[in-house]
Amino acid sequence: MLLNGNPSFDLRKIKRCGAKRRKRSELCRQPAMRNGRCSIHGGKSTGPRTAEGIERIRRASTKHGRRSKAAIAERKRNAETKRRIRILVDMCRRSI
Ligand SMILES: [Zn+2]
Repeated sequence: MLLNGNPSFDLRKIKRCGAKRRKRSELCRQPAMRNGRCSIHGGKSTGPRTAEGIERIRRASTKHGRRSKAAIAERKRNAETKRRIRILVDMCRRSI
């Protein structure tokens, strides 16, 4: 048991970072995280995990929303309405 109450552990047995050092051809050897690399060599972010986090990233990366699913669907609906109106107008003109 350590002074702060945490259980004691053997530092020699913990997993070490396997990243290569730039100058010498040896490994980093810092204590590794779950992914096998230290905090410096942790690699790319794996992205948001919670629904709240996903929503926050989605809002942060949206620039204007003109290419959003809702906006594209609305434009399609408007184009279809315009096409139908044109057909109706055409039919009216022919019947006159
Ligand atoms: Zn490392």
